[in-house]
Amino acid sequence: MDKKEIRKVISKRRKSMSENEVKEKSEIIIDKLMNTEEFKKAKNLMVFLSFDNEVYTFDFIEKAISMGKKVIVPYTVKETYEIIPTLLKNIEEDLEVSTYGYMEPKKDKIQPILEENIDMTVVPGLAFDEKMNRIGFGKGYYDRYLAKTKKESKNIAIAYDYQVLEEIPSEDFDVKMDYIITEEKIYKNAE
Ligand code: ADP
Ligand code: MG
Repeated sequence: MDKKEIRKVISKRRKSMSENEVKEKSEIIIDKLMNTEEFKKAKNLMVFLSFDNEVYTFDFIEKAISMGKKVIVPYTVKETYEIIPTLLKNIEEDLEVSTYGYMEPKKDKIQPILEENIDMTVVPGLAFDEKMNRIGFGKGYYDRYLAKTKKESKNIAIAYDYQVLEEIPSEDFDVKMDYIITEEKIYKNAE
């Protein structure tokens, strides 16, 4: 299967999840994420704002902020397929629903953070494999953004176990994950 076909199959599977399945699996995955040394150490962490049946990230964001961590979320520039990492102070006040339906920072609340100051990124995605490759929504937003973060900064994908396939296609510009955390296991980059 090519990237496009894989996106289709996995999107369909994810759409079929019940609210309860999303909630139960998200809780397990977020628990594991918060138990990683990477999270415990991180002062400035980037995390996506979950949409549809993605692993639910809003409770995680609340907890991280209350622990004194700086939480940075993506503001997407649709013209250039770029991400502006922006500091999130308050979930209730600083976000709004975008034209595409997902949550994003209000324009007047954008506080850009330089990629070099980010300690770890919690990455969304549609499909992954055990070689730590990732397939996203097809615009390369995270490939562009992750290319700018520093080498020591870890890329941690959170996903349901059915999203991790045996092998997926990857291209030169695709950035690999350091960890993929699912409700079943934690995949780690052996390199
Ligand atoms: P996704 O990662 O969202 O699944 P793809 O890997 O298919 O999407 O990439 C989508 C497009 O983004 C590709 O056409 C690719 O050329 C472009 N792209 C990816 N990374 C970069 C980058 N670092 N700089 C410029 N363009 C990039
Ligand atoms: Mg890619």
